[in-house]
Amino acid sequence: MFKTDIVSKFKNTPTPFYYYDVDVLKQTLELLKKESDKYGFIVHYATKANSNNKILDIIRSYGLGADCVSGNEIKKAIECKFDPNHIVFAGVGKSDAEINIALDYSIFCFNCESLQEMEVINELAKAKGTIANIALRINPNVNANTHKYITTGLEENKFGINLWELESVTTALKELKNLKLIGLHFHIGSQITDMSSFKSLCMKVNEIQSWFVSHKITIENINVGGGWGVDYHEPDKNRFVDFAAYFKLYNDFLELRPGQKVHFELGRAVVAQCGTLISKVLYIKKGVNTNFAILDAGMTELMRPALYQAYHKIENLKQYQDTSIKYQDLKYDVVGPICESSDCFGKAVNLPETFRGDIIALRTAGAYGEVMSSAYNLRDRVKSVYSDEL
Ligand SMILES: *Cc1c(COP(=O)(O)O)cnc(C)c1O
Repeated sequence: MFKTDIVSKFKNTPTPFYYYDVDVLKQTLELLKKESDKYGFIVHYATKANSNNKILDIIRSYGLGADCVSGNEIKKAIECKFDPNHIVFAGVGKSDAEINIALDYSIFCFNCESLQEMEVINELAKAKGTIANIALRINPNVNANTHKYITTGLEENKFGINLWELESVTTALKELKNLKLIGLHFHIGSQITDMSSFKSLCMKVNEIQSWFVSHKITIENINVGGGWGVDYHEPDKNRFVDFAAYFKLYNDFLELRPGQKVHFELGRAVVAQCGTLISKVLYIKKGVNTNFAILDAGMTELMRPALYQAYHKIENLKQYQDTSIKYQDLKYDVVGPICESSDCFGKAVNLPETFRGDIIALRTAGAYGEVMSSAYNLRDRVKSVYSDEL
């Protein structure tokens, strides 16, 4: 839902642009904080979902840490005043330069994905005369029941250390004197809406914990990653995810050892609903079986549909401008201007009869939207506009 006055403002702003509703973001963070604080859970925001300075500043102001997947994300988090003690660093391919950045800032923890990576971190930490905190990212072989490109916790995926490697990895770790094992890390995928996947993860974590207990290895931190999905179909009805149920599930099913802390890394669930890609219709073209609405935004601004057939709710905002006018609904293939057939936001989308100049909203675009934008076709970098600055 967009208020009439906002739609008028959109009309006077050059398109395409990302519109961020600051109030929605703040309300999301309030809910998240309230529910995670109940159990003393620690939440790190996955900066890769949206790394705009203003978004990061707001998120940090609610006391979240940062989950980074590159050296530049670590630098950005530091720039936005996240406490290095609340920064975790994940990724299957950390370069030496990135590891050195993380060592220089003394971040809280490296989430390590292979023995070779641990050996490299050990060497680099030794050269700096320091000790690096690490968590083992374990591939729990739990199915997230989400799109295959965003499934990360199966043995066939490139992520993490497999269960059968635990013995050799923990043995080798004893010789790596510049590493300190402080935790276990898991992340099974993204846009997970089936809670039972998280329950399966808890069960697997409990099993893996028993293995560590029997090997007399103490683990202080359990990091269960992120991946909680949002409702792309009903962004107004379900603007906020059910943080209460999500955190309660982990509290109910994780068997913690005395003094253990639980960490989460949420990205999408924090920022998806506060963002909308606003675009203008350039042309209407009649096809054989369908009409095309050609927008001034394309896969260069929002890549998710082209990349993994993602759905975004598409609205013609004139329906919010003058509700007394009844428009006839027609079906449109809503496409971008880029020279690729995959540059399509939706097929056979029902829209009120649409004309050149109409404003189109692509909803739930705050996560993995602007961050994935590109300059393909030498496009201008997409702009962003915030509700409190409009
Ligand atoms: C991407 C990622 C996340 C965040 O995933 P969301 O689906 O946005 O919650 C968390 N942890 C790791 C290691 C990631 O790669």
